[in-house]
Amino acid sequence: MKITSLFNSGKTVFSFEVFPPKKDSPIESVYGKLEEICALKPDFISVTYGAGGTGAHSRTCEIAAKIKRDFHVESVAHLTCVNSTKTMIDETLADFKAHDIENILALRGDYTEGVAPQTDFRYASELCAYIRRHGGFDISGACYPESHMDSADEIEDVLNLKKKVDAGAQHLISQLFFDNELFYRFMERAKIAGINVPVEAGIMPVTNKRQIERMVSLCGASLPTKFAKIMQKYESKPEALRDAGIAYAVEQIVDLIANGVDGIHLYTMNSPYVAEKITRAVENLL
Ligand code: FAD
Repeated sequence: MKITSLFNSGKTVFSFEVFPPKKDSPIESVYGKLEEICALKPDFISVTYGAGGTGAHSRTCEIAAKIKRDFHVESVAHLTCVNSTKTMIDETLADFKAHDIENILALRGDYTEGVAPQTDFRYASELCAYIRRHGGFDISGACYPESHMDSADEIEDVLNLKKKVDAGAQHLISQLFFDNELFYRFMERAKIAGINVPVEAGIMPVTNKRQIERMVSLCGASLPTKFAKIMQKYESKPEALRDAGIAYAVEQIVDLIANGVDGIHLYTMNSPYVAEKITRAVENLL
């Protein structure tokens, strides 16, 4: 199934993100968790893609195929291009097709320290256009409520996003954020720029202190005082912090749905516990 059809149903789309295990762990090590996560029946599950190069797509492909074939949930394979040549992308697309994967989240990817990027694709928009020419896939793209770190300002960021949509991105998934007002302002900018494709809000339930530090340094998401206070209060009580993180994410989701968001994309961090708590809290609201 092509996932863009989900946005015509009148229901708020509810999707998950999972990641493959590290290279030194057997791929089967995530299957148990995946089965539990899939049993929650989200509208689709997207599978992240490791830092590029030859063979980087294989775990993403295998997991996305398994989610669809064995656990009966539609899947989306992430695909980055910064470390790939056109030939490598051609091979990956052929592999996706052979595994019945119909949806791709097309990304530039982050530059790897010490690795010179390939030059065939400079931006995600170029990958979107390439996949569109290839045909056969629904194409999604990433967007950034607080702007991408490389953008000079919000205007440049949204104008580049418009190029990505014009190049073929039919649906957008946002970077995580902890302040819904930032998302609403981004949606206004997107509308002014003429971006009319569905946008899912990326929600990350923060459940431990290390995760917060990593998230802030990696993606630069700002932390509202309300959020920082909760995290500070429970930082030395892991269970309380986890429950507070889940409650915060649920509050964000309720507000987003009330404000007519097209979809919620939950960064599950491969945790069936967190995914289930949040699903149960919001499933009647979608
Ligand atoms: P782009 O859309 O290419 O944007 C990157 C920068 O280039 C922006 O500043 C943009 O404004 C600018 N730009 C774009 N087009 C132009 C242009 N024509 N001219 C000038 N400037 C331009 N990373 C992974 O490695 N694996 C994953 O699985 C993964 N999944 C992700 C999922 C989501 C939902 C999100 C939000 C991010 C994900 N990332 C992943 C991270 C992503 O790869 C990085 O954020 C990366 O730095 C940018 O990728 P992009 O596709 O958004 O890039």
